[in-house]
Amino acid sequence: MRPETALVRHGTHPGDPHRPLSTPIYQTALFEQPSASTFGAYDYTRSGNPTRAALERQLARLEGAEFASAFASGMAALTALTRLVPRGRIVAGSDLYGGTFRLLTSLAEPSGIDVEFVDTTDLAAVERALARPTGLVLLETPTNPLLEIVDLRSITALARARGALVAVDNSLLSPLLQRPLELGADLVVHSATKFLCGHGDATAGAVVTRDRELARRIAFVQNAEGNGLAPFEAWLVLRGLKTLHLRLREQQRTARRIARRLATAPGILRVHYPGLRGHRNRELHESQASGPGSVLSFETGCVASSERLVDALRQFSIAVSFGGVHSSVSLPCRMSHASIPGARRTLPEDLVRLSVGVEHPDDLLEDLANALAPLAQEQRVP
Ligand SMILES: *Cc1c(COP(=O)(O)O)cnc(C)c1O
Repeated sequence: MRPETALVRHGTHPGDPHRPLSTPIYQTALFEQPSASTFGAYDYTRSGNPTRAALERQLARLEGAEFASAFASGMAALTALTRLVPRGRIVAGSDLYGGTFRLLTSLAEPSGIDVEFVDTTDLAAVERALARPTGLVLLETPTNPLLEIVDLRSITALARARGALVAVDNSLLSPLLQRPLELGADLVVHSATKFLCGHGDATAGAVVTRDRELARRIAFVQNAEGNGLAPFEAWLVLRGLKTLHLRLREQQRTARRIARRLATAPGILRVHYPGLRGHRNRELHESQASGPGSVLSFETGCVASSERLVDALRQFSIAVSFGGVHSSVSLPCRMSHASIPGARRTLPEDLVRLSVGVEHPDDLLEDLANALAPLAQEQRVP
């Protein structure tokens, strides 16, 4: 079965005599047991719930894995990952989601985990960081919001040789475009709030793996910390997943058009998008992913111009997050990455990030052209 088919054809109703085509929402905290000494498949929703289990099976299958644990958010999933290396060492990319940076510096480090941030696009730097015993390497590719590409095959080989686990945050592309486990990663983490849910109406996360022992440890954390995904949210993500391929195809097609348009627009200094011919790591990206996705960023060369542009857009909501059906725009330094202190932030202050939704492409292109017009005029003034 191809992934597009698997998105709609999956075990929606194991054991249900009514054979529902949509997985029911098992809105219950408790499950009655057959007797005091025999137990059913479920007893308590914190430990397991059929709706969440259906989502977990589906997420595992999409990533080409056997096991998945669904969490209340992407951050809860990332927190569970840090539990794999108590008092250990994590090597993480330096261009990382702001919330992940905050988790690692404000919670993981004070709890005794040694965290080193390295430029993961630089293999020599990764190799130097791995010279010290490391428990976990945490990667994002493309990075967000600069859309830099990290060489997954090379880094997983380096990490394996030194006994470190590799986890890849695959939120920006989804398993339809990139399957890190097939490239050697041990774990994949998702903010399912983004593409997997896709409608901006649920917060969710997941950890996916092929390794039974790692899966057991992650599921243990999910139960012990009580941050598993609730049944209704699991159902929303299951529903969103059914159209992931359609949404992604359309969003990516429009994102390509927008990126190309911006690349030649007056007033735009630089466009970051791995689907552009000029992207410095486009070939590497194409060797490990099947598409550039629908998130892109660009620089105007001037913070005030970027702010005016963002305020002038009408079809792009000013909002953090990405991957949903609604197009959105943000200034990462002021919004999603504001939790990274200035000194450690390597992002250009004028960077604008776009997440392209499913609106008609011409509406989005016209909106951008209108918002860009004053910038082009400013540049003409000597
Ligand atoms: C949004 C995001 C997260 C956090 O996920 P939540 O669902 O918001 O908790 C983690 N990693 C990346 C790359 C993200 O974009």
